[in-house]
Amino acid sequence: MGRENTVGILGGGQLARMMILEGAPLGVQFRILDTAEAPCASTLAPSQCADWRDESALAQFAETVDVATFDFENVPAETAQWLAGRVTVHPQPRALAVAQDRLAEKTLFRDIGLDTARFVTVDTREDLERAVREIGLPAILKTRRLGYDGKGQFRLRRPGDADAAWQALGAQAARHGLILEAFVPFEEEVSVLAVRGRDGDFRTWPLTRNWHADGILSLSLAPAPVSDAITGQACDHARTLAERLEYVGVFALELFVRDGRVLGNEMAPRVHNSGHWTYDGAVTSQFQNHVRAVLGLPLGDVSARGPSLMFNWIGSMPDREAALVVPDLHWHDYGKSPRPGRKVGHATLCAPDMETLRERACAVAAALGREDQLAPMLAMSDAPACP
Ligand code: AMP
Repeated sequence: MGRENTVGILGGGQLARMMILEGAPLGVQFRILDTAEAPCASTLAPSQCADWRDESALAQFAETVDVATFDFENVPAETAQWLAGRVTVHPQPRALAVAQDRLAEKTLFRDIGLDTARFVTVDTREDLERAVREIGLPAILKTRRLGYDGKGQFRLRRPGDADAAWQALGAQAARHGLILEAFVPFEEEVSVLAVRGRDGDFRTWPLTRNWHADGILSLSLAPAPVSDAITGQACDHARTLAERLEYVGVFALELFVRDGRVLGNEMAPRVHNSGHWTYDGAVTSQFQNHVRAVLGLPLGDVSARGPSLMFNWIGSMPDREAALVVPDLHWHDYGKSPRPGRKVGHATLCAPDMETLRERACAVAAALGREDQLAPMLAMSDAPACP
């Protein structure tokens, strides 16, 4: 058998697009399978449109690739399992199955000693009443499956909110189940981006601090200004998780920080939005290391080149011309049509030090009218506001 060199990606969104852009210099070939006709990565690699359960399309796809991976974690776990009978699949389907179900995910977190917010399962309206009594308020009702970017969630503040919560998510209870989770008054949210190679080599990029708006990632700063103790806890949990799942590839572990401890929120079994800064701000990006890992190639250096700040562009792209004058700004337009709540692009700003990063971030915010988006990062320290 020749060397493995063609990676098949299930899902052809921006994550696939960046994997292709970063894998291309290594000479790696890509193929995409997606349920959409022309996903955004299809301008960069051959793309096949099929239903996830179309076995003849899956068989055809498996024949043309050496390794299959994901840009989307909601590919049915059975599809991943079916493919794994025909071609190497990384990460392995079990990791995908665990990450697809909040209950399985949180149970695994607790098993490896990573605490989570208190939660109980909710399958009926009566369960919800009981859960509210047990967990207390505020709390968040979440679908066990298919939730992302704050979708499939309802925040309960008062007991009277249970009706509205059930109205919003009750229909999903019968299909996928729900959980009620205690609201965590966290001090900050961080994520660990980690990669594990086929040979077990394990690396973590510096921690990323994240700010969300309406449940969608808005801004990420790396390296996160957190203590060594928090970094140590986060990386140890990521390593244990990777080993437990015999994980191969990149994943993100999203954590809340509270009272000097980390709590597990969720894991993404794929490259992740909070690691986009690595494309421009790290020696090796999450995208290239994922490709290296799934092909069994040596992993690259995960050090940061300096501080980086990533602005997510949600809904529509801002004016690139105004922003490109800022030094060390890296523009990423996914080529998607605008739609409210849709991730259409991002920009990563790099700098030699935090002070310069802050100055440049102020320039970007002013040029694009994004002062509100930047505000949480400025509020983090008592540094002066933008001039
Ligand atoms: P998720 O889809 O579970 O990652 O939730 C999206 C965002 O909602 C998180 O990144 C948090 O900002 C917020 N969130 C989710 N769960 C909780 C919780 N239990 N307590 C406080 N905030 C939460």
